[in-house]
Amino acid sequence: MRFEIITIFPDIFKSYFSESLIKKAKDNDLIEINIHDLREYSENKWGDVDGKPYGGGRGMVMKVEPIYKAVKDVRLEGKNSKVILFTPRGTDYTQKKATEYSKLDQLIMICGRYEGVDERVKTHIADESISIGDYVLIGGEIPAMAVLESVSRLVPGVVGIDNEGFLEERVRDKGMIEYPQYSRPEVFTTDDGEKWSVPEVLLSGHHKNIEKWREEKGEIIK
Ligand code: SAM
Repeated sequence: MRFEIITIFPDIFKSYFSESLIKKAKDNDLIEINIHDLREYSENKWGDVDGKPYGGGRGMVMKVEPIYKAVKDVRLEGKNSKVILFTPRGTDYTQKKATEYSKLDQLIMICGRYEGVDERVKTHIADESISIGDYVLIGGEIPAMAVLESVSRLVPGVVGIDNEGFLEERVRDKGMIEYPQYSRPEVFTTDDGEKWSVPEVLLSGHHKNIEKWREEKGEIIK
């Protein structure tokens, strides 16, 4: 699985992708991540990629031309590839989408900045526009990290064999069950003497009852 991230802030990703399971997945060639500096596709020597909005209004808008060139350059011919644009006006990102993306050969992500992106990117270049929630961020870089991480953990081998079995078992048509988890100690005593206990059933060793409790307490993530 190959990810391409198109951004004007490539350095934002450096530390994030050099840690933990994402680093391991890259080192083991389970995923490939390529960060593309959009300024390298600028039409001028100053690396401008934004312009004033037609019709007036505040701020700047990311231009269509550099994004067109970047996508054309990075898109793999003859592969199962998708281009997504991040925008708060996009389709809600869900676990179902993550599963869909995990089956691709290549996912190209366009990170917006400023007051947004020339609408022609949405209508002519992107296959889908995606929102990661009903709030407005400064840029599309955090959405790109969220999508990359949620898709990567579905790529076989990325989260380890046990976890994979676990995921397979739980990812059913209806979605994924996420339930409360506990670890040691059985009883945690606060500084005020309050005792916070682990639910009895989880200590019982009775697998059927544990499963039942998890189903009851769980939430379906779609
Ligand atoms: N009005 C602009 C729009 O509709 O895209 C908002 C621009 S926002 C300040 C700058 C960029 O951050 C957006 O172009 C988008 O790439 C990203 N962004 C902000 N909030 C987002 C969200 N909830 N989901 C996905 N991307 C978001």
